[in-house]
Amino acid sequence: MKNFTPIIGLEVHIELATKSKLFCGCSSDHFGKIPNTQVCPICMGLPGALPYLNAEAVDSTIKFGLAIGCSINSFSKFDRKHYFYPDLPKGYQISQYDLPFCKDGVFEGINIRRVHLEEDTGKLVHETIDGIKSSLIDFNRSSVPLMEMVTEPDFHDAESVVNFLKEIQLVARYLCISNADMEKGSMRLEANISLSPDGKLPSYKVELKNINSFRFLEKAINAEIKRQEKLLLAGEKIVQETRGYDEVKQVTYSQRIKEEANDYRYFPEPDIPPVRLTDEKILEIKKSIPELPLEKSKRFVLEYGLPKDFAKILVSEKNRADYFEEAVKLGREESLNPKMIADMMINKKLDDTLPEPAALVRKIVEVTKVNYAPIEEVESAVRSVLMENEKAVIDYENGKGEVVGFLMGMAQKKLKGKGNPSVVRDQLLEKLQK
Ligand code: ZN
Ligand code: MN
Repeated sequence: MKNFTPIIGLEVHIELATKSKLFCGCSSDHFGKIPNTQVCPICMGLPGALPYLNAEAVDSTIKFGLAIGCSINSFSKFDRKHYFYPDLPKGYQISQYDLPFCKDGVFEGINIRRVHLEEDTGKLVHETIDGIKSSLIDFNRSSVPLMEMVTEPDFHDAESVVNFLKEIQLVARYLCISNADMEKGSMRLEANISLSPDGKLPSYKVELKNINSFRFLEKAINAEIKRQEKLLLAGEKIVQETRGYDEVKQVTYSQRIKEEANDYRYFPEPDIPPVRLTDEKILEIKKSIPELPLEKSKRFVLEYGLPKDFAKILVSEKNRADYFEEAVKLGREESLNPKMIADMMINKKLDDTLPEPAALVRKIVEVTKVNYAPIEEVESAVRSVLMENEKAVIDYENGKGEVVGFLMGMAQKKLKGKGNPSVVRDQLLEKLQK
């Protein structure tokens, strides 16, 4: 785009997979359950009911915040965010306003403004009953813990937004704090978009909402950028509002004019005491963070000599990465190259029916063994390599063990790469030591 720079920021809601809801003992596993079977006076917002805080949800939020480089507020609190909607029984949402659990992170070069914890709302179900259009409310989701991450407006194109979000989804999964499934609504995306003529932050932003796949988000952002560009080029002003995306027409459409933050009348939640976190507690949570996908894929490249795209595919599911490493360990005894294992896993499309790692290793040995040069051929290749490289042999005798690698390479060259590495090595050492 010549005239404008797109300025994009994100708000991401992730439902936490805690056992119980945020402020009561009801199960938070609500997906596909019979409506209004997982409710109590607290999550229904009945008068006089007193909420109490789920510690697991707090820990999960902090774990996530630390994983994306945030600092943790040692003093944090909850606030009431007021608005009226039928799926919000109390008339306010318990959220966090000025003291979120996590702030000021940097992840993948993007600044993270904050990560806070809040309660989810109930769900409206629109149905026609006896010929009458009706709206029903299911409160099973009401007060399920919901983590909200807000980024700074650091993105300038749709593709980097999607790459970033895929990484965020993977982090949530690696941390085992959420399944982060968009089809189930466990991960919900919102993008704020504006166009800047001079690189500075414009005075308006349009919020794209209710988008439930990465693919549609990318399309929606691009459609919105196009719409705004057209308006600006025609000299028009852009209204600050919330827009949805029409997947069929591939355009965004207006949903509502955006409220200002002060319309929510935030004030401290009096029923939940502030949360104080000691350094020891934060350190303890930090220690529980496993190796994350980005580090893992870097390690796969360094440690196993995998191409970057292989490593990326392997870490895109934690189980797959674990499987690969298990197979590498087993394959080591058979002198199987890790890349061979990765290749088998990725290119042979064994994914759906991957056998136990040990069986995969046996299979690869079987497949490759057939192609190995027969032992006599290896022997004669090794013999001639030793004859042709007298200097290397003398070096070996003088204690320079590293020449073995060079001699192996020469032997493989003669064998056109068909020597079984462990056999070639054995043969070489045997003859060298004579
Ligand atoms: Zn409840
Ligand atoms: Mn929110």
